[in-house]
Amino acid sequence: MQCPRCLNTDPSYFYHGSKGWYCRRCVSFGRVMLEEELEPVSLEEIRDDGQEYTLKYPLTPAQIKVSHECAERIEDTDILLKCVCGSGKTEMVLETIALMLGKHKKVCFAIARRQVVLELAERLSGIFSHAHVVPVCHGYTTVTDGDLIVCTTHGTIRFRGDSAFYNMELMKFLEDEKITYYIRAKGFESLHSEAMDDMISRGIDWKNYTPFHPYHGEFLYAIKGKQPRRILYKAYSVMKDGQISFFPVIYAIVTNDMDISPEEGMHFYELRGASENFTKELKNDFDGGHVSHKDFWKNEMDFLISAYAYNVFHLFQNMILEGKDRMITMNTFRLIFQ
Ligand SMILES: [Zn+2]
Repeated sequence: MQCPRCLNTDPSYFYHGSKGWYCRRCVSFGRVMLEEELEPVSLEEIRDDGQEYTLKYPLTPAQIKVSHECAERIEDTDILLKCVCGSGKTEMVLETIALMLGKHKKVCFAIARRQVVLELAERLSGIFSHAHVVPVCHGYTTVTDGDLIVCTTHGTIRFRGDSAFYNMELMKFLEDEKITYYIRAKGFESLHSEAMDDMISRGIDWKNYTPFHPYHGEFLYAIKGKQPRRILYKAYSVMKDGQISFFPVIYAIVTNDMDISPEEGMHFYELRGASENFTKELKNDFDGGHVSHKDFWKNEMDFLISAYAYNVFHLFQNMILEGKDRMITMNTFRLIFQ
């Protein structure tokens, strides 16, 4: 199998949906079925003097060094420039852009925010005055071909929020900005009954599902009668006083990701706050929040010992403990076993 658009052949990207096989590797550009024949794309020729550029201020010797190195190494490797804000990242890649344009290759400059795309396209067309610089983002989609294409990074930002972010205005904004979101759903009674209906219509008996092996489902739901949005949920039964509860526990999120499976979507949402929890545990359970010396280096050592102890405990959680016990924090562990 091969995707007619991105030419992917890796089977793990192919997915069988209701209409047949499609490729998930390039699905953010719209779904393309494998048997579909795509119109060949005809692209504008790169202008001959496109690589000429003028920068009104000189680069520092250090910037020049990075700039040269980028242009040299881009041929055989990916490059990540990790620099602070305002250090001139854009300026340091101009040489590389020019090099590619000189070879009659098109250059894509992708940035997350639409406003920055518009600003940067303008700036770059001043710098590369002979090249055809095109901004491509929400509201600018008629012309998508040029020498230097400045565009938004499509679908690479994923927004995860708890129920405090369950707000129509925010969802609308994220949809307009083409940002994928996963937000914990509020307004629970109606969603709860929708989820119940969904399970009933599929003949799912939630009594067979537990917190560790929940049922994952989805449905479309029009919040406050507006356009329908995709709801992912998980459902499971709990034991109470030795009896299985009559109603399932249901946990739902709303998302504009139309391709992720309910299980993957819920899993991604549940990773929310994981790092904050690690920090909290390090502070509360391993005394990582206090310093006890006057000397910086002593304090650093003190902190590192706390972090080291926490890591050892983590290793113990993941390698020795099983099931629910894995969620246990150090303080609880001390309380039970000390
Ligand atoms: Zn593809």
